[in-house]
Amino acid sequence: MTRTRKPARTVLISGASIAGPALALWLHRYGFVPTVVERAPELRSGGYKVDLRGTAVEVCKRMGIMDEVRARSTDMRTGSYVDAENRVVGEMPAEFFGGRAGDDDEIMRGDLAAILHERTRADVEYLFGDSIASLAEDEDGVLVTFEHAPPRRFDLVVGADGMHSHTRRLVFGDEARFARHLGAYISIFTAPNDLELDRHEAYHALPGKLVCAYSSRGQTTAKNMFVFASPELAYDHRDTAAQKRLLADAFAGDRGWEIPRLLTNAESADDFYFDSIGVIETDRWSRGRVVLLGDAAHCASPASGQGTGLALLGAYHLAGELAAAQGDFEPAFAAYERHMRPGVEHCQRFAEKFVGEMTVDRKWKIRLRMLMMRMLPKMPWRNLVAKKITQDVQRMAHAVPVKEYARVSGLQRA
Ligand SMILES: Cc1cc2nc3c(=O)[nH]c(=O)nc-3n(C[C@H](O)[C@H](O)[C@H](O)COP(=O)(O)OP(=O)(O)OC[C@H]3O[C@@H](n4cnc5c(N)ncnc54)[C@H](O)[C@@H]3O)c2cc1C
Repeated sequence: MTRTRKPARTVLISGASIAGPALALWLHRYGFVPTVVERAPELRSGGYKVDLRGTAVEVCKRMGIMDEVRARSTDMRTGSYVDAENRVVGEMPAEFFGGRAGDDDEIMRGDLAAILHERTRADVEYLFGDSIASLAEDEDGVLVTFEHAPPRRFDLVVGADGMHSHTRRLVFGDEARFARHLGAYISIFTAPNDLELDRHEAYHALPGKLVCAYSSRGQTTAKNMFVFASPELAYDHRDTAAQKRLLADAFAGDRGWEIPRLLTNAESADDFYFDSIGVIETDRWSRGRVVLLGDAAHCASPASGQGTGLALLGAYHLAGELAAAQGDFEPAFAAYERHMRPGVEHCQRFAEKFVGEMTVDRKWKIRLRMLMMRMLPKMPWRNLVAKKITQDVQRMAHAVPVKEYARVSGLQRA
């Protein structure tokens, strides 16, 4: 006799950044009972600016958060390239730099996480300062032990805990099997706004390297960003001092523009971020009752500029499929992955090419780009060129179409 499986209702989500709280919002609307566990002691604020483009904007509208996103938009106005002597080579509208069009917007990652948390905190249980310790799946659910909280059973577990996902490691195996380094490293941190930037981003390119400083609306501080081409480096992910040394070594001897000053800022930054620009490639996103979401499933790297959008789109479709299948998780997980995967792979391919653009290796190529930047604002066909460049980004921003689900279909309660 075949046993009918009880529809899933309780869902543990690991990670409270973008994908986790967005999924919690949708699951709650559909009548599921989500719980979110986050390793950090409180919601992580700050971070860098993230673009919301294309179909991700449509999902934000459906979540009812787009007005808040606009209210907290970075409101960037302009971007420029500067040469080693601090002369502006060319200046363009910020939309051009971000490849944004129509209703697209840009927000600090921490502000978006705060909006999603504010929207869900009354209805969703959040366990901060904790982490899954072990997962044991059986016919009826998953027994979860935590580092601090007592053990609990859930029907489903979602790993939304980022590129270095702990859930993925527990269920799918070591990160080394899924992570592919794209040949560059990125570092970003908060710094004094010594350059007095106002909603402006300034870039300086040198062979194999890119340096940027920007300040967005309402910020008294700036962000400094460094990107450099490098084969994979061996270092301890928890050792910030070692990462700061790697960054200093990579730019040692580069005296142009404001590089020495920005490097000094790195030394005292307390939100110093350093990571490989890399992608996560897993051949499947679910195993049994555990499913991966956002960067944990398919990090497309900062070079795609689509990770946040994909996290929001994934949350929308995973919840939608679970509701449409009335909690029958196997077909729901399969439908979610089938729908998302082609768009995700498109974004990863874009990232792979774009890393090369961020770390142009030859001086003459950089000179050519600077010449383009200088000439473009004066060219009669500048809008056509800008459109062509934006087109590739826009194609990627629409690579995952938004599927229709019955509006808040209501889960049939078991
Ligand atoms: C410099 C930079 C620039 C970027 N620019 C853009 C952009 O312009 N546009 C864009 O769309 N994307 C951009 N991204 C990518 C974007 O930030 C990510 O793709 C997005 O945040 C993914 O969201 P996520 O919720 O899946 O994972 P994450 O944001 O990585 O969040 C994972 C969460 O899980 C938590 N966690 C980790 N381990 C555990 C554990 N053991 N237990 C519980 N919780 C845990 C973490 O603390 C964190 O809160 C950028 C990224 C970087 C680094």
